[in-house]
Amino acid sequence: GPRTLLALNWKMNKTTTEARAWGRELAGGFERGDVEVAVMAPAISLPGLKESLPGGVDVGGQDVSAHESGAYTGEISAAMLRDVHATYVIVGHSERREYHGETDAVVAAKARQAQAHGLTPIVCVGEGLEVRERGEQVAYTLAQLRGSLDGVAENVVVAYEPVWAIGTGKTATADDAEELAAAIRGALREQYGELAAGLRVLYGGSVKPDNVASICAQPNVNGALVGGASLKVDDVLGMVNAL
Ligand code: 13P
Repeated sequence: GPRTLLALNWKMNKTTTEARAWGRELAGGFERGDVEVAVMAPAISLPGLKESLPGGVDVGGQDVSAHESGAYTGEISAAMLRDVHATYVIVGHSERREYHGETDAVVAAKARQAQAHGLTPIVCVGEGLEVRERGEQVAYTLAQLRGSLDGVAENVVVAYEPVWAIGTGKTATADDAEELAAAIRGALREQYGELAAGLRVLYGGSVKPDNVASICAQPNVNGALVGGASLKVDDVLGMVNAL
């Protein structure tokens, strides 16, 4: 399968000064291995961040505009992210969907725009608690995925992040993660054919050093998208070493 990806989503944390200090601290303890690590930092902290990180650690954005350039106050374009060495960008995180009204169509447009500038979008999907309690998580998540991948090429990572597991300390079991990752793989096969086997499906939601290995050992899970446990260098080294 594809190389495991540990994608760190800092969300709205760390000043630029703190971000660079974090990069240097990581460089002090990090050994390059089989796992790919990428830091999704606030856009303002991306310039110079890659240089502060250990060699081989990538950087990426947390969101991108669906538009090329122009009168979109406050937005960051794919070309701007690429210029500061981003290789990835998260699109359709549940917090963007919930607090900023992003629909599947908007998420797909952002992913296409990212790809047009050589970025790999990390497209997030996942059900809320009510859907999970009704047992409809597979149908819900796959419908969201199909809409969010409309017209999106195969240079893509999918992150399954059940909303009820984000920042709550409630992690999906490894079996729950695999159920959805396998279903997502099936949908990717419908869209991309054989290439689907080489694409990465991540799990996100309360991942930490003591559960990352069992989750990432599932056959269809190719890594993790980590929020809270991405903020401290010790936790990140703990996850890298566990994998
Ligand atoms: P936590 O790891 O804090 O649960 O956040 C998950 C997440 O939303 C990563 O994008």
